Amino acid sequence: MRRWNGWGDEATHYPFPESAKHYLESKVGTGQAIPDITFDRALVEVPPSRLTPYTHLALDPAERLLHARGQSLPDWVALRYGRIDAFPDGVAYPTTLEEVRALFAFARRSGLCLIPYGGGTSVVGHINPRPIDAPTFTVDLSRLSRLIDLDETSQLATFEAGVSGPDLERQLNERGYTLGHFPQSFELSTLGGWIATRSSGQQSYRYGRIEDLFAGGHVETPVGPLDLPPLPASAAGPDLRHLVLGSEGRYGIITQATVRVQRRPEDEDFSAIFFHDWQTGANAVREIAQAQIPVSMLRLSDAQETESTLALSGKEQLVNWADRGLRLFKYDTDRTLLIFGVTGDKSITRLAEHEVTSIARQHGGFAVGSTIGHMWRKSRFLTPYLRNSLWEHGYAIDTLETALPWNVTIPTSLAIKDAIRTALQVFDERVLVFAHLSHVYADGASIYTTYLWRRSPDPDQTLAEWRAMKDSASRVIVAAGGTISHQHGVGLDHRPYLEAEKGTIGLQLIEAVRQQLDPDRLLNPGKLIE
Ligand SMILES: Cc1cc2nc3c(=O)[nH]c(=O)nc-3n(C[C@H](O)[C@H](O)[C@H](O)COP(=O)(O)OP(=O)(O)OC[C@H]3O[C@@H](n4cnc5c(N)ncnc54)[C@H](O)[C@@H]3O)c2cc1C
Repeated sequence: MRRWNGWGDEATHYPFPESAKHYLESKVGTGQAIPDITFDRALVEVPPSRLTPYTHLALDPAERLLHARGQSLPDWVALRYGRIDAFPDGVAYPTTLEEVRALFAFARRSGLCLIPYGGGTSVVGHINPRPIDAPTFTVDLSRLSRLIDLDETSQLATFEAGVSGPDLERQLNERGYTLGHFPQSFELSTLGGWIATRSSGQQSYRYGRIEDLFAGGHVETPVGPLDLPPLPASAAGPDLRHLVLGSEGRYGIITQATVRVQRRPEDEDFSAIFFHDWQTGANAVREIAQAQIPVSMLRLSDAQETESTLALSGKEQLVNWADRGLRLFKYDTDRTLLIFGVTGDKSITRLAEHEVTSIARQHGGFAVGSTIGHMWRKSRFLTPYLRNSLWEHGYAIDTLETALPWNVTIPTSLAIKDAIRTALQVFDERVLVFAHLSHVYADGASIYTTYLWRRSPDPDQTLAEWRAMKDSASRVIVAAGGTISHQHGVGLDHRPYLEAEKGTIGLQLIEAVRQQLDPDRLLNPGKLIE
């Protein structure tokens, strides 16, 4: 069963051995286990629904509680400390396009708002009802999950958009195909959610981001249907698919999506290379990207992430053994770890592996084979469960991400980390902060920064600390000209920083489209734009 106040399935746990505990104590201090409120206690807080019964609309408190919040840090604080300030008044589970249309008509007739809901894995407040809005119901799309058509000649698959990552891959794999879109939230996130947030999967280097995979589909807007034909290319004016990508539930409900799929690869492998430091590693990774070596993933951790990942992995013996070996070859405390993936026909994966290793060597890289890469692959969807274990031991953790051109990538990463450290000093607390280049392009890279600190028994204190760090880091990103989000979207949390990126006219355009498609303001109020 899915956890109601954390990540993933209740039966799955991320091990948290004594060595990991000691490591964190030495970095940020001893965490204090603070009891969470129980599901039953949280249920008592759910106020009566303001809606009258309607077909396909669940009004019971449990359903409403389960759809109240996503996965952002403020969401976790709300769920775990019992501070949820608004609940949906109901939850609808449409099973057909006609039912989606009927829900729009119902909302308009009754003066309600509605929030499209995929897997609820948003980390920026996308799916949260707000206390200031009209009565609101959530439209959970999980019952729209069928593979409608697989055109093997064109390699186009059409799905209902509520399909989850594992369900989508299963349906394709059975026919010998894959979409290859693997965000770390793969287990719970959905195709519609990926499109509405412009998501990026871990192997986007080979398969592309969701905007490369989304060929067309059907969007039901409050003013009627918007059909996007799946054309390979078109010069017929602006590409309307890009209005839907990143629309964050403001323009309509994506009910169907046609995506570009591929035959399942013959071969796939993940290997590791150590570099002497972060800048040298980044130089190598840039060269690999600019030489267009056909890898499927390049993920370069900074020195702190390299150390912390190994320390928290629970594989003490292996880590000690690797540490001794690496020091022998003068890969000391500044060493950084690159994990790279190769995917495709054997001839291509062998060639790519050879080319990557040879460029890395020119930058002082030390290839250590595939043991670490296999460990990464094995735990790639387990890692989010670490957040549950950390929280239970008294630690909060959050991530933020941006993308910039290569000439400013590393200095900006250092500035983001400095800003986070300085912001927490005011509270007399220490933060463990580290980063990796998660998605690499010929002209730049995304920087994915993680910060971990002790949470307080006082939820307001934990939130104030988070806000200070998030805001300082976001200001650095804006000042450096980076995007406020490479993959998580805008939601509520990134909205204050959006104008710096889009400009006044840009924001007016986004709002004008909303006004055109949703004149009665039915959809997801306050997200993306006010
Ligand atoms: C542990 C963890 C790891 C993550 N890793 C990644 C990652 O690697 N890459 C990445 O890109 N993101 C990642 N995310 C963020 C998140 O998973 C993505 O934003 C994901 O795309 C959201 O999908 P969802 O189905 O859960 O959407 P939801 O969270 O349910 O909704 C997100 C937004 O999309 C809208 N929406 C959803 N479905 C539809 C639809 N059918 N029609 C219209 N609007 C819709 C909602 O209204 C909302 O505004 C991660 C999140 C977590 C918690």
